[in-house]
Amino acid sequence: MSTAYFSHPECRLHDMGPGHPECPQRLDAITDHLRATGLDVALDLRDDAPPATLPQIERAHTARYVNELADLLQRLRDTGGQHAYDPDTIAGPATWAAVLRAAGAAVAATDAVLAGEVENAFCAVRPPGHHATRDQTMGFCFFNNVAVAARHALDVHGLKRVAIIDFDVHHGNGTEDIIAGDERVLMCSFFQHPLYPYSGAVPKGTNMVNVPVPPYTRGGELRELIDAMWMPRLEEFAPQMLFISAGFDAHREDELGQLGLVEADYEWITRRLLALAQRHAQGRIVSCLEGGYALSALARSVAAHLRVLAGV
Ligand SMILES: [Zn+2]
Repeated sequence: MSTAYFSHPECRLHDMGPGHPECPQRLDAITDHLRATGLDVALDLRDDAPPATLPQIERAHTARYVNELADLLQRLRDTGGQHAYDPDTIAGPATWAAVLRAAGAAVAATDAVLAGEVENAFCAVRPPGHHATRDQTMGFCFFNNVAVAARHALDVHGLKRVAIIDFDVHHGNGTEDIIAGDERVLMCSFFQHPLYPYSGAVPKGTNMVNVPVPPYTRGGELRELIDAMWMPRLEEFAPQMLFISAGFDAHREDELGQLGLVEADYEWITRRLLALAQRHAQGRIVSCLEGGYALSALARSVAAHLRVLAGV
């Protein structure tokens, strides 16, 4: 058994302009670090993630939203130019291909794990997805990759219970919007509060375990909160598969948030989740990159996460 690493060169080409933190160099930093550390040889590298299909995406988004986004992004692809959904979320000619590959990687990773080809998988993709709601583009996100994959596992593969874990520094409001009330899913997250998108303090459903934490919370405190708040609910829920919204912007070197995590904390969290998956879910985990903008810290944190997933 092994760990698959899904990506696609088109995920790199989406570009929101000079100085934007959600930049192509994020993927370069991860790739370079995996090569420099030799961790790449321990992974089942799949740089050919297929594009998601529109029916797959419509398991998480409204058909109207998908069609409108497709129309606009295909027009940018064919004629050039940019469109700013908000000051931080900018589409360009390469965005359509990237959003399809990002969601498609998550779907393909789900298929590979459920087929038993690999024990778990990481999707090194961009744009990220967890702020994308059923019908709104926001916060660097277009399609909600993790929600698309979780619904694929439920609706296509027939799983009854899956968990979504979101450890990005920002609240995964988009995933909550899609998943709240879907009792087949338990979503556990922590996030800095208050911080963009300023939601999450009051959960939108009983299947949401939201843990808002103040700025400057450090890893030790977060570990205690995870053991107290997440783990009992996850053990009781007994998910058949885990999906991780793996954002690494809670790292203390990341300037988009003010939390104090370090690589050892990501390693610890991943160990907790891997053990949970091994108890309940045959080890099945699909983890998708969300945030993480301090390039060196991002690369080191992804490596810490991957070393646990791959058992090396
Ligand atoms: Zn984030």
